[in-house]
Amino acid sequence: MFKCPNCKSIDVGKIGVNQYYCWNCFIEMTISKGQINTHQVEEDGTLSSLDDLFSDDERTINF
Ligand SMILES: [Zn+2]
Repeated sequence: MFKCPNCKSIDVGKIGVNQYYCWNCFIEMTISKGQINTHQVEEDGTLSSLDDLFSDDERTINF
């Protein structure tokens, strides 16, 4: 389990293979090669990347 890079909440649920959802700030996360890719679901259903809001360090998972 990991913390949401956006709000630091541990209320992160698995929604698919390598896909997670933060129930606290409502962002979607995809795990790829040890890195968290973050996406926000817009009102029209499209995904916008939030990756540039976080440093590589914040987006790296340390198991
Ligand atoms: Zn969050």
